[in-house]
Amino acid sequence: MAISRRDLLLGGSAAVISGACPARARAQTSAQNEQVLTGGYVLSLDPVIGDLSKGDVHIRNGAIVAVAPSIAAPGVPRRDMSGRVIMPGFVDTHWHMWNSIARGFGHTRLGPFAKSMGALSRVWTPEASALSVRLACAEAVQSGITTVHNWAHNIKARDFADAELEAQKASGLRGRFSYGYPQSIGKGVLMDLDGVEIMKADEFGLNHRSLVSLGICARGPDRCEPAVWRGEWAAAREFKLPITAHIASDRAAGGMAGISILNREGLLGPDVLLVHATHASPSDLRLLAETKSPLSISPWTELEVGYGVPPLAQMMDARVPMSLSVDNMVLAGNADMFGVMRVTADLAAGMAEKQGALSDRTVLQWATMGGADALGLGKLVGSLAVGKRADIIAVRSDALNTSPVKNVDFLLTHGARPNDVDFVMIDGVVHKENGRHTRIDVPALLAQSSDMIRRLRVQADI
Ligand SMILES: [Zn+2]
Repeated sequence: MAISRRDLLLGGSAAVISGACPARARAQTSAQNEQVLTGGYVLSLDPVIGDLSKGDVHIRNGAIVAVAPSIAAPGVPRRDMSGRVIMPGFVDTHWHMWNSIARGFGHTRLGPFAKSMGALSRVWTPEASALSVRLACAEAVQSGITTVHNWAHNIKARDFADAELEAQKASGLRGRFSYGYPQSIGKGVLMDLDGVEIMKADEFGLNHRSLVSLGICARGPDRCEPAVWRGEWAAAREFKLPITAHIASDRAAGGMAGISILNREGLLGPDVLLVHATHASPSDLRLLAETKSPLSISPWTELEVGYGVPPLAQMMDARVPMSLSVDNMVLAGNADMFGVMRVTADLAAGMAEKQGALSDRTVLQWATMGGADALGLGKLVGSLAVGKRADIIAVRSDALNTSPVKNVDFLLTHGARPNDVDFVMIDGVVHKENGRHTRIDVPALLAQSSDMIRRLRVQADI
């Protein structure tokens, strides 16, 4: 699986000669930024390229320059992908990364999710948030998720936002940081919009070059007073930042008709990513489709927290722009996007009482291109096509749980698990190789995380 010894030697010689011959060194350096993934099953999810039962993907300087059954590219290092499915990385569209070290704290002696997290969030520190983001990003890579939407809804002060953003940028993952509100905020209190404006000016000016963009997570019509959500929406539009909000999550919230209220005031649109909509009515779902407002569902946590079952048939009938998410590790337990796809497909079949009601291929599209479109990144990532950035994963098709298999869609939605993600590349940079992280000391990260949550648990007395 690794680049051949000959290619490694070529790369090594570039370092040695770099002082002696600048022109040649430049050529060698660029060769190091170039490679061909070869001999895998290519699931491009691009409508023109389609699937290649055996194909190559040529990458140069972080971009895809060719996808074809066979690519010659003399002198370019080749990485053998036989026994693997080469595909676009997964895109998660709603992840409260700040509480990832609180895995399993969804129910404590204080009671269910809201009470337990309320107590923990009161003692939370910027260091705990940053560590959680690092843990989440590491797990994302483990699972083949290359783009994340960090839904930061425990910004108690600006240093919390700074700590999360810095950890997210350092991860090398693509994604959005959505600046949110503290857990303890009152329903009549505006979030820290000055903080958003300052962060936009300081970190996201014209020269900003990171893979992370900025957004706002607002509470929306069913979680705060009208003057507040209107103010937060207006600020997002004034700052030209995308907005995200939970909507119609439980039955009571569904009864508040938040989607129709937003539509009536002209506040839906492609820049508005709504989350859950578990109790949205069919007419509300049609409004999302008409206004091209994307939706993120997280079926595992919607089941676990007791919101209910996502109305997948109605969502599909209405043609809502769909995407998938893991939501949080407190309830979901893990960031297994394969598991999210599986439960999505199987809930749809179970509710419709019809096998295959939601095809495995459609679910794969929601987990890749659908997510990219939802975050406004559809021109950059979400499929393997010439000109797109190289966010690519390879999944083993020769593992005990993936072989033999009739077709690749079923392999990915029902057979594969995060451990089968053999290779992860984000913007041309390798993050996982031969099934192992290349940029993270995982045991050290886990030790720090365990230590931190142990201390916070004592402080919160839960
Ligand atoms: Zn959420």
